[in-house]
Amino acid sequence: MSDWTDDQNPYNRKRRRCKVYDVERVEGLGLCEHCGALVSISDYAGDDAMNAKWLCGKCKGELTHVSFGFDKGARGAQKVRWVGPDGQWTDKKPTDDFQLGAIQVMVGPEVFY
Ligand SMILES: [Zn+2]
Repeated sequence: MSDWTDDQNPYNRKRRRCKVYDVERVEGLGLCEHCGALVSISDYAGDDAMNAKWLCGKCKGELTHVSFGFDKGARGAQKVRWVGPDGQWTDKKPTDDFQLGAIQVMVGPEVFY
């Protein structure tokens, strides 16, 4: 269970305003390592992100770098898997924007909202 309710979490309030677009970066998408649910790093980012445990919204399993497609190599964590247009892991980064359910997934250069 999360320690924060939605209303206590300032990031959630901010996110709701942006939510109209339902845009996610392909780098930030992952699949829960426990149940396979789609997870987004932006659901978890925030001031407390480094200290907080990240729990899957579906199964409440603890999400690690594995759920976000990172591999911890000698030079630090690197993204090695991406969620593709079929909603499954792919080891090749998608090159075109695509739609995943209600989410527009952006592949291009980083944009800050
Ligand atoms: Zn899960």
